[in-house]
Amino acid sequence: MNILVLGSGGREHAIAWALSKSPRCDELFVAPGNGGTAAVATNVNDVDMMSGSSVLSFVREHGVDLVVVGPEAPLVAGVADELRDAGISVFGPDAAGALLEGSKAHSKAFMEKNDIPTAAYATFDSCDPAIAYILEQGAPIVVKADGLAAGKGVVVASTVEEAEDAVRECFDGKFGDAGKTVLIEECMTGPECSLLAFVANGKAFPMAPAQDHKRAFDGDEGPNTGGMGVYSPVPIVTDEEMASMVAIMDKAAAATAATDGVRDYRGVLYGGFMLTPAGPKIVEFNVRFGDPETQVILPRLKTDLVDVMCAVAEGRVDDLSLEWADEWAVCVVLASAGYPGAYEKGKVILGIDEAEALDGVSVFHAGTSHNADGELVTAGGRVLNVVALGKTFEEARERAYAACDLISFEGKQFRTDIGAKAARGRSA
Ligand code: ATP
Repeated sequence: MNILVLGSGGREHAIAWALSKSPRCDELFVAPGNGGTAAVATNVNDVDMMSGSSVLSFVREHGVDLVVVGPEAPLVAGVADELRDAGISVFGPDAAGALLEGSKAHSKAFMEKNDIPTAAYATFDSCDPAIAYILEQGAPIVVKADGLAAGKGVVVASTVEEAEDAVRECFDGKFGDAGKTVLIEECMTGPECSLLAFVANGKAFPMAPAQDHKRAFDGDEGPNTGGMGVYSPVPIVTDEEMASMVAIMDKAAAATAATDGVRDYRGVLYGGFMLTPAGPKIVEFNVRFGDPETQVILPRLKTDLVDVMCAVAEGRVDDLSLEWADEWAVCVVLASAGYPGAYEKGKVILGIDEAEALDGVSVFHAGTSHNADGELVTAGGRVLNVVALGKTFEEARERAYAACDLISFEGKQFRTDIGAKAARGRSA
């Protein structure tokens, strides 16, 4: 069958890589793709992934049987709805389901309605009542823009003044329409952990938990990023916590079953959890695979990803079961100097083949492209995801860092402590 993946990050490279291994996959397209997807698929530059009609005309022209939507923005914009209305199989929820990520106020109301544990909160449409609420609650407190803000719309404020500033910035238009409604949340404490699940027909099929590293520098210092590394599974999660995270994902999935006039949710539901002293609570839901979580989850999936995605897209999940390799996976992100601030592009990248020759190592591209001379060059802040599998956590870590040392480009920066917290245990 022919498959089209929408997106251009490390997540989409990992998805395309896993799909390309299936004997059922004939032609594989990625729109727009990156320097790495070009090795396992055909990159397509003339499809606008935010436009259902643009995607649809490519699908018709190339006999595409399944569309996999990588990022959230097209889902929130209703691209999956338009494709489904036209009878195309799509992996990714309709706009109604995608609102779980597209509006934090909607997501919190969903959690409240379905008795899903999360931080206490209030929503505001104007500045003064929001500030009065902050003064009443005190700090620390969390301020969030309602809509999509590329991970920048959240301030965990340690003082009342910081929270007030964040509220003013939102209502002053820093995030445009995404900040027209502001949420103020209780500040939760505890380690964070993600649990993703395939969801269709109101049922959740959980994957393995993963733990991301959001800060730019070692020791969780520096500014927030899209993610500097991740590992899976997460040894600090107790069996009891895992059971309650799975129960929460089951409850959330059940609430996405079809109702009169609304189709069921079909795709990935990403639960961002905080393991609080009172048990796991949801920080956020995302409506797609995580980036970089996908890069450590899919290499461990032994079940054919085409089978899984078709079953989910077609709502045939009664017999769906997922088989996982009994291995650890560690991913280290290689970034451009300056990221997440300004950075230069066009630096020649060497050593990927040597890195991938190491046992258990795969390199997924994020911001790469080819220059006019056909050389692989940097084209983004996060450049490469170096992933290693190992029989033990230490083996996976050692392999990942050995591979990082073999890859070179001017300004390469990466964290040297990915997974260190897991190795140190819960108190770290
Ligand atoms: P991203 O897209 O980058 O995951 P986002 O903009 O959707 O982020 P959230 O995931 O809701 O925002 O929050 C970002 C981070 O802020 C969380 O990973 C967590 O570290 C912190 N955070 C959010 N809400 C809370 C809370 N109620 N208590 C404590 N920390 C929080």
